[in-house]
Amino acid sequence: MPTIICPDCGKTTYLDPEILHYDWEIACKYCFTKMKVKGSTSKGIIVTRMRFSLRGLEQYWDYLSKIEQERLEEAVYCSKFAPTACESMCFDALCSLLRRLYGEKKELGYYTKKMEKDPNLSDLSGAISYFYHKRNQVDHPERTSNPLEAESTFSMTKRLILGIFKNKPDFVNRSRSLKR
Ligand SMILES: [Zn+2]
Repeated sequence: MPTIICPDCGKTTYLDPEILHYDWEIACKYCFTKMKVKGSTSKGIIVTRMRFSLRGLEQYWDYLSKIEQERLEEAVYCSKFAPTACESMCFDALCSLLRRLYGEKKELGYYTKKMEKDPNLSDLSGAISYFYHKRNQVDHPERTSNPLEAESTFSMTKRLILGIFKNKPDFVNRSRSLKR
């Protein structure tokens, strides 16, 4: 029986084996993520998210500032149809969080260097170097993003935010008293 894996929760959904070609939207019955399902049983089925998801950030959501929450929510709304805007929103959210973490009012490039030298964040080196390479491309009007890039940036943003909160308990404590 043909199956698809939900890109968000990883659970399996079974498709009707009588249908040979798929090109429609379905929702995961476990987490309700909307997915586009395209392809055929013989050639393979491609599953893409209709929208990105903030799933995974629940436990730290309240420790994000209002601005950071709004930027991330806007990134979700932009995800499929405005990938350049989506990436910009991710960078803004990160930059705001990093300004709170390290102080000062600098740009993302400055903070990626700070994170690289931070011994508490050494297990995040992959995500950090992703943003180190990305930072020059953002907000340059001659460039646009494609949906795949937006998806990587969005998931890397989530990974970095989660990693920072996990590795920096003092930052979690500081974030408890955020004024809203
Ligand atoms: Zn799911």
